[in-house]
Amino acid sequence: MTVTLTRADGAREQLSDDVLDEFDAALRGRLVSGDAAEPEPRQEWNAMFGGPAGLTARCTGTADVVEAVRFARSRGLLLGVRGGGHSVAGLSSNPDGLLIDLSGMRGVLVDPERRLARVQGGAVLGDVDRETQAFGLATPLGRVSETGVAGLTLGGGVGNLESRYGLACDNLVEAQVVCADGSVRTASEAENPDLFWALRGGGGNFGVVTSFTFRLHPVGPIVGFAGVMYPLEEVAAVERKWREYAEVAPSEVTTAVYGFTFPAAPGMPEVVHDRPVVVVAGVHCGPDPDMGMRVLQPLREVGTPLLDLSQPMPYTAVQSAFDALFPRGVHRSYWKSQYLDELTDDAIDALARRAQDRPAPFTMLNIFRVGDAVRAVDPEATAFAERTSPYMVSIDTNWTDPDQDEAAIAWSRSTFEELTKYGNGRVFLNFTGRQDEPLQAGTDTAFGRNLQRLGRIKAALDPDNFFQLNNNIIPTPG
Ligand SMILES: Cc1cc2nc3c(=O)[nH]c(=O)nc-3n(C[C@H](O)[C@H](O)[C@H](O)COP(=O)(O)OP(=O)(O)OC[C@H]3O[C@@H](n4cnc5c(N)ncnc54)[C@H](O)[C@@H]3O)c2cc1C
Repeated sequence: MTVTLTRADGAREQLSDDVLDEFDAALRGRLVSGDAAEPEPRQEWNAMFGGPAGLTARCTGTADVVEAVRFARSRGLLLGVRGGGHSVAGLSSNPDGLLIDLSGMRGVLVDPERRLARVQGGAVLGDVDRETQAFGLATPLGRVSETGVAGLTLGGGVGNLESRYGLACDNLVEAQVVCADGSVRTASEAENPDLFWALRGGGGNFGVVTSFTFRLHPVGPIVGFAGVMYPLEEVAAVERKWREYAEVAPSEVTTAVYGFTFPAAPGMPEVVHDRPVVVVAGVHCGPDPDMGMRVLQPLREVGTPLLDLSQPMPYTAVQSAFDALFPRGVHRSYWKSQYLDELTDDAIDALARRAQDRPAPFTMLNIFRVGDAVRAVDPEATAFAERTSPYMVSIDTNWTDPDQDEAAIAWSRSTFEELTKYGNGRVFLNFTGRQDEPLQAGTDTAFGRNLQRLGRIKAALDPDNFFQLNNNIIPTPG
């Protein structure tokens, strides 16, 4: 049996049995062809991009990744890389090409003395939180425990600790990377500093990261948590009061608001079943959870609560509190985002109007207060350039009916267009959808002045743009 794959130049490449056997034998993991009747170990999250790759190398370690990169390189194959599979833009789906699947690489080793965690490139957030919390430590990651550490960190990584401790990428101290030439490099402030700079926000452009070393901080095990559902009809008033709080909240508090229709979830009171709500959420990561609850109290009083889930909570429970709402392979999704220099009344009113005509119940309109520690970093200190805006709005358009694809995407785009009046034009690449848009769409608005340096580093490390299934940076020697 042969397998025919797409090359990066668009041509087709036929791989004979012998070639496949030789490649398979070179791996400690396994090679699986797209027509094998085997479920994928880690399915793509966005249902628009479901389905196996033409050929998948299920890697078990750095050596397997080197083999796969060399194989793809020698035959000019279009290469995809899957960490957590949570790319909303479907960037880790590669139906006609070769996929490096890192789902077998989830190891996390904590060094409590040095407050460091070394994390393999296929770990998901819950893997890291579980291991680090065993020592009362944590590093800032995202808000859903099944999201991949790799894609999230390489794209910056916003989450529940960002106000106190910054982005995920701000806490990266070292990475091990398999580059386009098959070499394995260590990236840190001391070694390959350009690569290290680029990895902190520049996405999957520079190689396959097989391990990340993160700085850890004392967090939990119990933290203060506010989670209050208010009727969506009150969204404009709730968001105004939330804004008053967010503007002065101490840096231990990270807070956001989410507008959507809550599903009829088992175990949740009927009062919120299929109910449009605005959820006001806050996490206080200081050492005293009771004090944290007192600091969070105003978030419980910004409207008429339908349901108040606020309480001191294990940090790991906070980190997985939203999981049930975001199963893999169920929603079709197209997300957009925009940073705001100011959250004006007009912007809130526009969002409130849009919240009324969402195309599907689980379509979300969210506002994130950007953390103090994120804004304390110089925009040119890492590739992640957006360090000044105090707010970010995300338009998370999620639906399930394929017949609605066109209308839902159009709604997402028109909502984004309307918000450009209030935004500063900059976007967050972790929250982007992909639909007939070039993969580099948005990189200029996300990277600003850092794009030039990124282009030069890309040209030095990957002049042929071998790693192109990502928010793509075009190699620009300079
Ligand atoms: C339900 C949900 C919740 C989310 N919550 C947050 C959040 O709280 N905060 C936030 O910042 N973002 C969040 N995101 C966005 C998420 O961080 C990005 O989609 C991210 O790319 C997902 O990473 P992944 O490894 O799971 O993705 P994948 O689909 O596996 O990969 C995405 C991209 O990263 C590259 N990549 C993956 N692994 C590697 C690797 N080891 N080395 C090099 N490149 C690699 C891929 O090639 C691809 O370009 C969320 C997304 C979803 C769907």
